[in-house]
Amino acid sequence: MLKRITENIYFIEDPYRAKPPRCHCLYVEDDLRVLIDSSSGPEIVNAIGPHGVDLLLTSHFHMDHTLNHNSFSGADIWVHSLDAPGVKSERKYIELLGFTKFGQEELGQEYVRLMNIQGCPVTGEFVDGQVLNLGKTEIEVVHLPGHSAGHCGFYFPQHDILYSADIDLSRRGPWYGGVSSDIDAFIASIRRIKDMQPSIIISSHLGVITDRIQKRIENYVDQIYLKDERLLQALKTPQTLDDMVNNHLFHEEAPRQLIRFYNFFEKAWISVHLERLERLSLVKREGQLYYRS
Ligand SMILES: [Zn+2]
Repeated sequence: MLKRITENIYFIEDPYRAKPPRCHCLYVEDDLRVLIDSSSGPEIVNAIGPHGVDLLLTSHFHMDHTLNHNSFSGADIWVHSLDAPGVKSERKYIELLGFTKFGQEELGQEYVRLMNIQGCPVTGEFVDGQVLNLGKTEIEVVHLPGHSAGHCGFYFPQHDILYSADIDLSRRGPWYGGVSSDIDAFIASIRRIKDMQPSIIISSHLGVITDRIQKRIENYVDQIYLKDERLLQALKTPQTLDDMVNNHLFHEEAPRQLIRFYNFFEKAWISVHLERLERLSLVKREGQLYYRS
């Protein structure tokens, strides 16, 4: 599970291919022992526990990055201030994903129970550009908002390695199914990574990426523009948000027992996308009805 990638940095490969609610993580064994994200099941606790963790750096508040935080008792937990509320409290988690905005607080509570999401104490907040010196290793915080408002990556300047978290370069493209998501900010963050030209990207859900990084980044951002097109195509016929959700514009039909959650995330996803198209004056809204302008 622990794969050494430099003298002090270990890639923690999730044994279940990092499918949410799991992710790949990083561990740095230095004077200060740092774990970046923790959602790799009980396996990560067994693998890292004996080495010890002084500081847990959290890329963002989503549970597929924080589920084992409480297993490393005694470790400091740091996160960007904009995502700190969602790490600390289940109620804020529900709010930041948008359950409250859409009047589905109870569904949010059910989601929190189903996924076993538990708030944990945040003992520190970091900011963009902050450099952490662990002994031999330096880590620079890179604020990459869009996936969530406080989403951050972590850059190792001595090795030109970037842990890009949920700018994960997956084929399905960026995920923005929460009200703290913002597509335009996401695009700017993807561009920032592209300009950094790191030699190695560690993606939370794809793992270590060393080849065709620039091309993969382009393909990734293109998924947003393809979805713009799909949405604009659908809005040749004016529709309400609920019409679009029922037509499963972006996500395929869900397993029956999970359909309410799938529909919720589809709704949050489409609404974030509509916000972008309204800003671009490509979509207009009259009452509940959206149409192409
Ligand atoms: Zn996420």
